[in-house]
Amino acid sequence: MIEDSHQSRTNLSELGEFGLIDLLTKNLAPKLSSTIKSIGDDAAVLDFKDNQTLVTTDLLVEGVHFDLAYMPLKHLGYKAVMVNLSDVYAMNGTATQITIGIACSNRFPVEALEELYAGIELAAKIYNIDVVGGDTTSSTKGLLISITALGYAKKEDVVYRSGAKPNDLLVVTGDLGAAYMGLQILEREKAVFKVNPNSQPDLDAYTYLIERQLKPEARKDIPPLLKDLGLRPTSMIDISDGLSSEIIHLCKNSGVGVNLFEDKIPLDPAVISACEEFELDSTTIALSGGEDYELLFTVAQEDFEKIKANPNFSIIGHMTEAREGMHLVTRGNTKIPLIAKGWNAMEKEED
Ligand code: ADP
Ligand code: MG
Repeated sequence: MIEDSHQSRTNLSELGEFGLIDLLTKNLAPKLSSTIKSIGDDAAVLDFKDNQTLVTTDLLVEGVHFDLAYMPLKHLGYKAVMVNLSDVYAMNGTATQITIGIACSNRFPVEALEELYAGIELAAKIYNIDVVGGDTTSSTKGLLISITALGYAKKEDVVYRSGAKPNDLLVVTGDLGAAYMGLQILEREKAVFKVNPNSQPDLDAYTYLIERQLKPEARKDIPPLLKDLGLRPTSMIDISDGLSSEIIHLCKNSGVGVNLFEDKIPLDPAVISACEEFELDSTTIALSGGEDYELLFTVAQEDFEKIKANPNFSIIGHMTEAREGMHLVTRGNTKIPLIAKGWNAMEKEED
């Protein structure tokens, strides 16, 4: 884990807007050949040659998307970048630049924003992206971060949500539900801390879950891996809201249905044991938890051999004709309609 380390407190007004921007951006020299002009002019200038440009924005609001009671600012900076890069990878592209909009109240000292930028810098370094601009302003209450990510892909490589065909295989990377269970652990510890501020939580057993919540990694490795395997997904999306709502997006955009098999959903053992502890159903958590930042895609049946033995991938279902609907096939072989948040356990359909 990366640690939060600010001790001194410098008031934002001491630096002024330009002093603050200079301080926050001093380590952000560009490194990519596609960055022609970075921070310091009215706009950044980029050159993606004969590729198509990918652009995506995400907005994170304190109290809505994050809680600073358990989210260290350095992690928040890192995660804010991941959330955006994940969307570029979901288009099967390469992420190259970001811009960062920040609004914060004077409750935050300069050192807090430096922590936030330490996380952003770390993400930029590991993911090989340039921070090429942004905007900085005050807010009456709380912290707001808006990041825009840019990237590129060859025209023929771009994968949309809309290309899935009946009989395509539905594939997911990594495992699901861990970030949500990490949040449950952190919420529980926050509640314990409120009652007893001297409590020393032992969170060792939950390391993986907490890391997945506080320091998620976007799947930068997947677009090049797909290329190496000679695989072009027919549709793709990243998992931010939860498996079921992302599957529904693919189905609706592609005009197909789906059979998702409960026993194929990849779960880490830590998720299974935390679900037992919290008396939650692990399938529900995988379907509805969200914030996994894994990639969900469809491939033609013929590509089965390229997928089947790869530890990055789990085949979790297959697409159908739209009129067959969108279903979860349970371990007990019951078909249940998928809904955006999990599935509707009340409504069983006859075959
Ligand atoms: P403008 O008045 O044109 O909006 P600013 O004075 O706000 O310009 O910003 C000066 C430069 O610093 C610009 O290149 C802008 O993109 C960059 N910048 C401003 N705020 C940030 C930030 N929070 N992070 C990174 N770059 C920033
Ligand atoms: Mg500005």
